[in-house]
Amino acid sequence: MSKTVLILLGAPGAGKGTQAARLAQALGLPHISTGDLFRANLAGGTSLGDRARSFMDQGELVPDELVLEMLFDRVAQEDCQSGYLLDGFPRTIAQAEALEARLEGLVPMVIDIQVPDSDIEQRIVGRRMCKECGAIFHLTFNAPAQEGVCNACSGALYQRKDDTAEVVRTRLEEYHQKTAPLIAFYSERGGVSAVDGRQQPDLVFEACVASIQGSGHGSSHGVNS
Ligand code: ADP
Ligand code: AMP
Repeated sequence: MSKTVLILLGAPGAGKGTQAARLAQALGLPHISTGDLFRANLAGGTSLGDRARSFMDQGELVPDELVLEMLFDRVAQEDCQSGYLLDGFPRTIAQAEALEARLEGLVPMVIDIQVPDSDIEQRIVGRRMCKECGAIFHLTFNAPAQEGVCNACSGALYQRKDDTAEVVRTRLEEYHQKTAPLIAFYSERGGVSAVDGRQQPDLVFEACVASIQGSGHGSSHGVNS
């Protein structure tokens, strides 16, 4: 089976995690979120978590060397042998170049979920996450059936420390300065599929599936919408 590496690009709050969870299931690929990996390190009190904490709290990108070591350890694991779905990585040109070197000629499929800056603050400030299973909710756009309780596993919902209006400003600046240039980077390689992230999540998912099928990657993984 050919290996598929799918990258979801997009501003913070564009809906990458929401779509990644569904796409990973549809494609049968592991969902790898560098943000989730850092949060697991923070919760576990590791030295990596300690080194990443102040950057994350302030909405700045964690230095490339810390991200790369963590990500490459993860994708070396057995479940990534036939491919993986990246959410929140790469976020800088240096990260994209390091990934390119590691992929040794394999061209990733890239989807850019587009949401205007004017929608981002409301998305981020209303986000709630499950402490247990990581499911993503929104107070208005995807409210849990019972306040503060995860629909999927009944875990407690929490608000991320960096999901505030103040920190969002820095996160968006970081995105425009360091991550948005990746759209041109990948356009010059295998291409980038743009998906309108302002639509309902189901429609965003359908558009992602259509672009994967159009790229020819879906068939080898039996993508099933
Ligand atoms: P990212 O991983 O890109 O930061 P998330 O998937 O966590 O973004 O989504 C950010 C917030 O926006 C969450 O609260 C989520 O429930 C909500 N959201 C995601 N997709 C949509 C959508 N298509 N329409 C409205 N709200 C959405
Ligand atoms: P996210 O969960 O994707 O919103 O990421 C939360 C925070 O983790 C970001 O604001 C960064 O501080 C850090 N982070 C996650 N992924 C990366 C990455 N690829 N490069 C640098 N920092 C990252």
